[in-house]
Amino acid sequence: MSRANWTRMVVSAAIAGAAGAVVVSAAHWLLQSAHPTSTDLHQELHEQVPLSAQESQRLESREQAYQTRRAAIEQRVKAANGRLARAIALQPGWTPEVEAASREVEAAAGELERATLQHVVEMREGLDAQHRPAYDAALVKALSDGAK
Ligand SMILES: [Zn+2]
Repeated sequence: MSRANWTRMVVSAAIAGAAGAVVVSAAHWLLQSAHPTSTDLHQELHEQVPLSAQESQRLESREQAYQTRRAAIEQRVKAANGRLARAIALQPGWTPEVEAASREVEAAAGELERATLQHVVEMREGLDAQHRPAYDAALVKALSDGAK
C-alpha cells in the first residue's frame, strides 16, 4: 500500500469514527430525552417516598427481581448501541444496518421503560394504604415533569 493510500484510509476511518460518535451520541441524547421516565423515575420515587421497614421487607423480592431484570435489559441497550456504532463506523449514513440497529436500541430502551413502570406499579401495591396518596402524588408529579 502506498503512503497516500494509507493516509487516505486512515483519514476516512477517522471520519467514519467521528461520524459514528456524533450519531451515537445524538441517538443517546434522543433516547435519554425520549425516555426520561426509565430508571430515574424509580430512583426518584424511592427518594421522595421512602419505604418503611415493613414495606421494604414486603417489597424486597420484587426490588431484587426488578434490579436483575433492569440489569439484563441495560445490557441489551448497551449491546444494541454497540451494534449501532459499528454499523455507522462501517458505513456512515442511514443504511439498512443502521436502521435495524437503531430499532434494536429503541426496542430495548422501550422495554426498560415498561419494566420500570411495571415495577413502579407493583411497588405501589406493596405500600401501606396510608402511604399511597403521597406515592401517587410523587408519581404523577415525576411523570408530568418528564412530559414537559
Ligand atoms: Zn423499587
